[in-house]
Amino acid sequence: MPYVKHKKVTDHHHNRDGADDAHNVLERPPTAMIRESLNSRYDIALSRLEARTCHSWKMALDGSKVLTAAASIGGTATPQLTIRSAHGSRVIDVDDNEYVDLCMGFGSNLLGHSPEVVEQAIINQTRKGWNFGLNGESQLAFANLIRAAGTANERVQFCASGSEATAIALRAARAFTGKDVIGVFEGAYHGLQDYALITNDPRNPALKMHVGLGIPNALNEVVEPLPYGSDSAFERIRDLKHLMAAVIVEPVRSSFPQSDEGEWLRQLETVCQDCGVLVILDEVTTGFRIAYGGGQERFNLSPDLVAYGKAMAGGLPVGALAGREDIMKVFSPGKHRPAAFAGSAFAGNPLSVAAGCATLSYLQDQRSTLYQDLEQTAEHLSSRLNASWSAANVPLRMMQFGSMLKLMFHHNIETGLQYIQPSQGQAEDAFFVHLLDKGVAFHTSRAAYLSTAHTGDDIDIIIEAMVGASEETAADGLFRTLS
Ligand code: PLP
Repeated sequence: MPYVKHKKVTDHHHNRDGADDAHNVLERPPTAMIRESLNSRYDIALSRLEARTCHSWKMALDGSKVLTAAASIGGTATPQLTIRSAHGSRVIDVDDNEYVDLCMGFGSNLLGHSPEVVEQAIINQTRKGWNFGLNGESQLAFANLIRAAGTANERVQFCASGSEATAIALRAARAFTGKDVIGVFEGAYHGLQDYALITNDPRNPALKMHVGLGIPNALNEVVEPLPYGSDSAFERIRDLKHLMAAVIVEPVRSSFPQSDEGEWLRQLETVCQDCGVLVILDEVTTGFRIAYGGGQERFNLSPDLVAYGKAMAGGLPVGALAGREDIMKVFSPGKHRPAAFAGSAFAGNPLSVAAGCATLSYLQDQRSTLYQDLEQTAEHLSSRLNASWSAANVPLRMMQFGSMLKLMFHHNIETGLQYIQPSQGQAEDAFFVHLLDKGVAFHTSRAAYLSTAHTGDDIDIIIEAMVGASEETAADGLFRTLS
């Protein structure tokens, strides 16, 4: 039996006053797709799902009148779930349905939702205050735990998110080298800053493309998209060495977490060093997740700057830039030396720092087994799924590195691109609806993360739900057949 713990569809829901409010929620779902007849497995699953998530879609409907779509980036398939609470490996929606969660706060919940060790640290800190602005007493301890993640981490600058960390990394590189161009690798993600949202147009690589509107064209001049994992990137870096301040690179791309690019990353470091171009390692996702020392440790790297975020504060908002002392000094004004600007109202806030100290201390204690166990679980999950999908000729693959996972539809694997092509849109929609109907919450970005809270039973539930969802999608004839 697939795992779905949900209340009966016929149950009435009670509001806080105990009054029966079922009549309030029986409006049409946001999809406006009330099916007159149930023709496909997709129709049946969606109807069932809409019926038992009526508060969720009502809230999604109300929210859509107030919030922008970007505010709801944490989206599941339609109908959009609204989550009331989360614990361990599970999230519970506002209709009291429980799901095994694979989004895990975009990878920030490495120890699961609300792990006790972090919860206790947060509770203790809330009694002492949660944003001083002024220096807090645990900042040094947190900085030292970050320094212990790699030899490159000589100095630390706190910030409040991964996007801030990569933004100040680029600024530091420019300030230190006096050059402006930044090399970014195709298929990478470095947060919401403008520079990181410029790439090559996959249809015409000679042209630059912006990820979304509002990115100034002027920035095209200072961003150089480079091919990831390819030696041709080295030639481009050599050509541009007099203009290029740094390259920013993920040791494992969360958009394509498959192979060990260690040898290529080490070569990249050598080429950059020869050219006077800094290497910024973006460890926002990999840091403290694929090893305590992230990609630095796994691939034996010596970057100049390292950006951190996500997993290092047990799910609280956090970011940090670490790096070589001589470079990091650009943030400290000298007597005759102006500084580069870094800092924000929530940088190094006591609550995130307390959660960060608790998380990193725990990870340090457990590192000898924790990472290996997590990786073995993720390997087991991906290999079971891939074996089943290849045997059934289903065009899906689960990519995996460490505890990072990414679901790929066949065309993504062929092209190496993460962009969804319209031809697979229907299959993707259907697959995610079936998955949700079977009790697994999976973000539609198709990135997933395992945590130490996922049990063997959770993994069995995920495998069964994913295989089942692919069978239902195939039965409706929605998959493009494999050539
Ligand atoms: N860099 C990488 C590699 C990421 O995966 C992300 C977030 O997904 C970021 C930067 C941005 O981090 P944040 O969302 O905390 O701003």
